[in-house]
Amino acid sequence: MNLDYNNNISILINEIGWETEEIYKFQGTPGEDEYFQSFKFCQEALILNKKYGIYPNIFFFRNNSKIDAKAIKKDKYYIIWLNKGIIDLFNRYFVTYFYLDEIDELNKYSSLESQLIDSIGKLMYQSTLHFTFYHELGHLIQFVEKPDLSIAESLNTKAAYSIIKHSEEIDADLFSSICLSTHFYQYFEDYYQGKIDEDSITNYLSILTSTMFIYFLSFDDYRSGFYLKEHSHPHPLIRILSSINTIIGYFKEIMEKKGIISVRIERNKVFAETFRIAEIFIKKFFGESNFLGFNTLLRENLVEIKNYHSELVSEFSSNPNSATNRRNENI
Ligand SMILES: [Zn+2]
Repeated sequence: MNLDYNNNISILINEIGWETEEIYKFQGTPGEDEYFQSFKFCQEALILNKKYGIYPNIFFFRNNSKIDAKAIKKDKYYIIWLNKGIIDLFNRYFVTYFYLDEIDELNKYSSLESQLIDSIGKLMYQSTLHFTFYHELGHLIQFVEKPDLSIAESLNTKAAYSIIKHSEEIDADLFSSICLSTHFYQYFEDYYQGKIDEDSITNYLSILTSTMFIYFLSFDDYRSGFYLKEHSHPHPLIRILSSINTIIGYFKEIMEKKGIISVRIERNKVFAETFRIAEIFIKKFFGESNFLGFNTLLRENLVEIKNYHSELVSEFSSNPNSATNRRNENI
């Protein structure tokens, strides 16, 4: 297993023709440790998933402070980059300036945190980072049977609408949500020390799932109003609801498979708590008025969101090359 970031850099420059200054070299910087851990997670996951045909593969951080990520198929290589800006922003939100005990509305989460080996902030940070990465991995899997191409994640409002492109985004979101839900379950099973009951699981799942709002709202400008069949990506509201629903549903499925049937998890309760937590963070990171605008968009467009989501899912549901379908066939 190759976990040498410098080796990735030399392939990018010498074999793929990348510009040196585009690549972020984190060695020797104050955030070195965090960057290395993130690189290690992503590169290891790429190697573990080579069974999908996404090999040889390369992960790297791009030296850019914008919030963006990209999946690329070029020559024989499958490449994912995350802008340095993503790591820095999510770190700022959940690690550097995150003090759970200073948020009154989240008081009850201190007892959950005391039963885990990591801080809640660190787990929230990892959730956003891992979701970003697995979404890109989903795109790489979609690329396997296609010629060279790439997909970037920042919303392009000038792009021509394509139902196929929108459905590929939802497919990559579902793939990522399933991977994330699996991690959530594994971590809970391995490291949670407290009593396993409806409350503890509902709280654990809600606080981690609430990061979906932060992920999507960091990428896209939802303040510009609601839309359906426009732009490069579906509206973030559609993607948020779809991803949260998948994470909760899959977590419940794993519990059932593992025979944990004495604890019942109510999807609506998790949804309600996820929204309560998201409100706190949206106000904190994006401002009060943005939260109100977001809430209005949600209330006014719920039916359209559900209908359009179904349309997008049916678009890829019979496609054997969709990331979600390929994952299901590999289980
Ligand atoms: Zn995407």
